[in-house]
Amino acid sequence: MTNPIDNKIDKTLLPEIKKRRTFGIISHPDAGKTTLTEKLLLFGGAIQQAGAVKSRKAARAATSDFLSIEQERGISVSSSVMKFNYKDYEINLLDTPGHKDFSEDTYRVLTAVDCAVMIIDSAKGVEPQTQKLMEVCRMRNTPIITFINKLDREGLEPLDLFQEIEDKLQIECVPLTWPIGMGKRFKGVYNLEEQQLGIFTPGYTPKNDDGVLIKDLDDPMLDEMIGESLAHQLREDVALLSVAAEPFDIDLYLNGTQTPVFFGSAINNFGVREMLDAFVRIAPCPGMRPTATRDVDPAEAAFSGFTFKIQANMDPEHRDRIAFFRICSGKFTKGMKVRHHRIGKDIKIANATIFMAQERSNVEEAYPGDIIGIHNHGTIKIGDTFTTKEPLKFLGIPSFAPEHFRRVLLKDPLKAKSLTKGLTQLAEEGTIQVFRPLHGNMHIIGAVGVLQFDVTMARLKAEYNVNAGYEPIDLSVARWVECENESYFNDFIRRNESSLARDAEGRLTFMTTSEYQLGFTKEDWPDIEFHKTREHN
Ligand code: GDP
Repeated sequence: MTNPIDNKIDKTLLPEIKKRRTFGIISHPDAGKTTLTEKLLLFGGAIQQAGAVKSRKAARAATSDFLSIEQERGISVSSSVMKFNYKDYEINLLDTPGHKDFSEDTYRVLTAVDCAVMIIDSAKGVEPQTQKLMEVCRMRNTPIITFINKLDREGLEPLDLFQEIEDKLQIECVPLTWPIGMGKRFKGVYNLEEQQLGIFTPGYTPKNDDGVLIKDLDDPMLDEMIGESLAHQLREDVALLSVAAEPFDIDLYLNGTQTPVFFGSAINNFGVREMLDAFVRIAPCPGMRPTATRDVDPAEAAFSGFTFKIQANMDPEHRDRIAFFRICSGKFTKGMKVRHHRIGKDIKIANATIFMAQERSNVEEAYPGDIIGIHNHGTIKIGDTFTTKEPLKFLGIPSFAPEHFRRVLLKDPLKAKSLTKGLTQLAEEGTIQVFRPLHGNMHIIGAVGVLQFDVTMARLKAEYNVNAGYEPIDLSVARWVECENESYFNDFIRRNESSLARDAEGRLTFMTTSEYQLGFTKEDWPDIEFHKTREHN
């Protein structure tokens, strides 16, 4: 039987698609993600007072035992997706958990967005977590808008920051605003496109019509407003930029090679509106998505989408899980029946949830770009596709190579079976990755963030009644291996048996102590492919 191709376009979907923006924020802890999120939600009217987002974070601070991990999940879940409106746009902001919440979910969320905002702390420049998240954005050439934050503090010179971004992140910076002074001398930003001057007053949120139009930078009004020396500096900077900086090119932005840059101070709500205005204007709406068989157009009438995150124990009363599902095409309506292709069954989505900034509500209808939460009892895995009919498999929702490893210690040997079952299911949900070395009988667990080890142990106990612990193991690198040449591959396996393991889906994985060691092995075995990510079955 040939598969039906269900790609009829429904033009009535277009206005809904065009007004949607689905994005995530990439930044290093403390660069200002929470603060910026809060300001965006304030602009969107999704929250009424400053501090609403902060208090969530404060509540997170004290977490050490199982109970607080549970509570923390309850808290972080409601903020996993924040939907808000701005002007005529419907914006989905997907949280990229950082700090000690950093996990594979942080990476995977970026597979479900269409664009991203990168925050850089002007004093610190490009930091490690930003670099890691940027690597993930690179995989799909996600368009990125940059916000350079904390201009009210002394920081690096803007051009030095650009150089660092270009060197470390391989993306070309194009300033759309330009800062005037910094730290105590910070006077505001000049909007290069609109030739408007925005004056900074600490503690005052600029209004839409506050900008002063200064078409000619030689206008003496500039000296009056920001002082002679800063006016002189601004004239020099702008003259330099006009020859040295590349012009903004929307296509280069959309394919991820150029990033428009905004300067500001999130805490003072300064420069944020300029960034948000540009964001809704230039950031892409939901677009084509690749599957194993064809590209799917968001305006196709048939519904489709994929699961990118699974969260358990939202409600301690019910041991159910919520699958976060990104709609890729068609319209979702409450109670609709969809095909769950991996298990080959139709399921009715009766009580999907849509996530507003501070609450969850039952969703009646949703469109491409929207994220809905689907309740289930362990039948949904990361990467699962649901459609109305056609068996599609969306690509680019991979597992990411773990960076931390532990060996699992089972305290009650009679529970070996339950342990395997529990670990397998937790691996399917993306909580942890599980490896069985070719030699020996142990379980090695791997994670992108170390909090996952405690979460895993707590859930093994609570959900599978397994008392387990873990101990360090001298590993820090894992790569999935493949090779087209069978006899070469077999030779590789024979000679490296002690460094090989199978993951929960049976994929062969090479594990070693350092990147350095990995380099040696790669040199010795040039025909083996070592993958940092792998697609789900
Ligand atoms: P996150 O870890 O990225 O979510 O960062 P937060 O939003 O929590 O900010 C980290 C710290 O930087 C907090 O103390 C904020 O008050 C502070 N902060 C955020 N934006 C600014 C800013 O524009 N200027 C200054 N001086 N501090 C800021």
